[in-house]
Amino acid sequence: MAQEDYDLIIIGSGPGGYVAGIRAGQLGLKVAVVEKDPKFGGTCLHRGCIPTKALLHTAALLDEIKGVAEHGIQVAAPTLDIAKAHDRKRKVVDKNARGIEALFKKYKVTGMIQGTGRLVGPHQVEVDGKDGKRVLSTRFVMIASGSVPRDVPVAKADGERILNSDHILKLERVPKSIAVLGAGAVGTEFASLYASFGSEVTLIEMLPRILPIEDEEISAELERALRKRKIKVLTGARLTAAERTEAGVRLGVERQGKAGTPAPPATVEASATSETPGWRTSPRPKASWRSSTWPASRSGRSTTTRCHPAPTATRRWAAPASARRGRGSAATRWRSASSRSPLSPRRRSSATPPASSRSSARPGTTSCWGCTSSARAPPT
Ligand SMILES: Cc1cc2nc3c(=O)[nH]c(=O)nc-3n(C[C@H](O)[C@H](O)[C@H](O)COP(=O)(O)OP(=O)(O)OC[C@H]3O[C@@H](n4cnc5c(N)ncnc54)[C@H](O)[C@@H]3O)c2cc1C
Repeated sequence: MAQEDYDLIIIGSGPGGYVAGIRAGQLGLKVAVVEKDPKFGGTCLHRGCIPTKALLHTAALLDEIKGVAEHGIQVAAPTLDIAKAHDRKRKVVDKNARGIEALFKKYKVTGMIQGTGRLVGPHQVEVDGKDGKRVLSTRFVMIASGSVPRDVPVAKADGERILNSDHILKLERVPKSIAVLGAGAVGTEFASLYASFGSEVTLIEMLPRILPIEDEEISAELERALRKRKIKVLTGARLTAAERTEAGVRLGVERQGKAGTPAPPATVEASATSETPGWRTSPRPKASWRSSTWPASRSGRSTTTRCHPAPTATRRWAAPASARRGRGSAATRWRSASSRSPLSPRRRSSATPPASSRSSARPGTTSCWGCTSSARAPPT
């Protein structure tokens, strides 16, 4: 096995890894970024923030066009070509992925290495790539391996009726009805998206309010806005069963009454989406030796989605599902982003980051604060 020398090897090329790689390159270190996916950019770019925001932008335009009559503008009722919306989403993602590669080249990230990284010694990383295994030597290692979706025990994702967020971002049809499990940022975004696309949406949250980690006022305001859009919101509701039926999935839900007393169990009959509130860290790169540079905390996220068999729409599937999902080492605070905010087309998250960390959100572009967006180098 050949030996190569770097100052820094980064395992994972999500917002955690690629930004660090570029910064290290700017500072003159000899850097390699190891990525097991075919493209650089991680969850945020390929299965997270960016594709979601691209579709939410489509949804926001659709809603806006539906509302133009009140401005005295007459247009025919808009229809959605979901396959085309996904095509646009792919173009946005590809453009940003090329942007990351360009930045790597510009800032002399000399090693852009495709393969699965594994620590085999205090200063050695083995990379298992398409040309076989090789060992790279390095002064420092950074692990930025992100996280993957986690299944809900009673509703394991099958990629057909019960979907996680990786699956749903490739779903090129609009289910008649959909139930989203988990009303965090991701679940609420998908609920909003599919309501705009025309599905009947039920949003199920185990905790007493949606967006449970935000301020109570935000949860209350957003819940009102979602209900106004005919999204059925079930809070204090625990999923107890998910039975696949001919038409979709029947969900058993246990709800707490107002005073915390159990309410009669409810059944949600839906083709459903669900985003589970839990995340699972990405499997750590296998190591015979464990580095002290291991990240202190990473979180994982899972989304489970269920949906009816395709009602009408054309079914075109994107690239084969890959299993990774991430959130964590890079982004500690959720920042929903887009020139048009996803949750309500004209609202923007109150968690506005400092200008220096914000990506340029030009009208009509898809961006994500704090992560990939229009891939930019960190300030020098
Ligand atoms: C649907 C969805 C929407 C989201 N929207 C937003 C949003 O709007 N705003 C926001 O701030 N955040 C959002 N997030 C969260 C965001 O995607 C994550 O916070 C972010 O991607 C975490 O970055 P990371 O670099 O830590 O990990 P990741 O982006 O997961 O990157 C980790 C990379 O490491 C690679 N890897 C793992 N193990 C190995 C190995 N052994 N060898 C080589 N490579 C390896 C993986 O393939 C992956 O590419 C969203 C997430 C999802 C799922």
